[in-house]
Amino acid sequence: MIEDNYKHQGMRRGLVRKLREKGIYDERVLDAIGKIPRHVFFDQAFLEHAYQDKAFPIGHGQTISQPYTVAFQTQLLELKPTDRVLEIGTGSGYQACVLLALGAKVYTIEYQKMLYERTRVFLPDLGYKPHFFYGDGSKGLPAHGPYNKIIVTAGAPTVPTELLNQLTEGGILVIPVGDNKVQKMMRLRKTAEKKIEKEVFDNFSFVPLLGEQGWK
Ligand code: SAM
Repeated sequence: MIEDNYKHQGMRRGLVRKLREKGIYDERVLDAIGKIPRHVFFDQAFLEHAYQDKAFPIGHGQTISQPYTVAFQTQLLELKPTDRVLEIGTGSGYQACVLLALGAKVYTIEYQKMLYERTRVFLPDLGYKPHFFYGDGSKGLPAHGPYNKIIVTAGAPTVPTELLNQLTEGGILVIPVGDNKVQKMMRLRKTAEKKIEKEVFDNFSFVPLLGEQGWK
């Protein structure tokens, strides 16, 4: 049984307020973040960091993304409860929880075996049940596609064509693209005529997307 007391809930409300101040406007996304106990993703010793708006190391050299980044990417996805979503970079599983809280059916893939093993046990214990996969998500997950939405939570050198191929018509890919320090957040939408419309947003800083269509 996880502890989620009035202190945690108060800190979570504070985080939601901060995200709203920073420009997150989608109330459904803010509601989802307001529901998920982010502190359970943290070691007891680092509890005070859980509701600060910052990324944090989660072991195996990886990080749980900054709440603002999670909220921003999720907002760009324009999620509908019927959507099938592919997440590339399961990591801690926090982003997957946000997608599930919005009603989506979630497929999530992680390249690091230890993280995959850890998160696929931890998340269902919390009551969140995406479909977990282990492997190189830079090529997507064609066996279960196409997807209405694809979210990449690691920084890519270019937009992998395979991910665009795995989108439905009207589908959206949200992906940070740049060098290994700074990336621009991009939203690519596949139109009914199978054209790709691209929008470019602010700078972010992610750990690298590895693999065949990522950093070698
Ligand atoms: N979404 C995560 C969360 O909510 O905590 C944060 C993800 S972390 C910033 C990026 C993750 O992408 C890391 O766990 C990393 O191992 C993973 N990753 C990097 N390259 C990958 C690839 N080709 N396929 C799948 N996962 C990959």
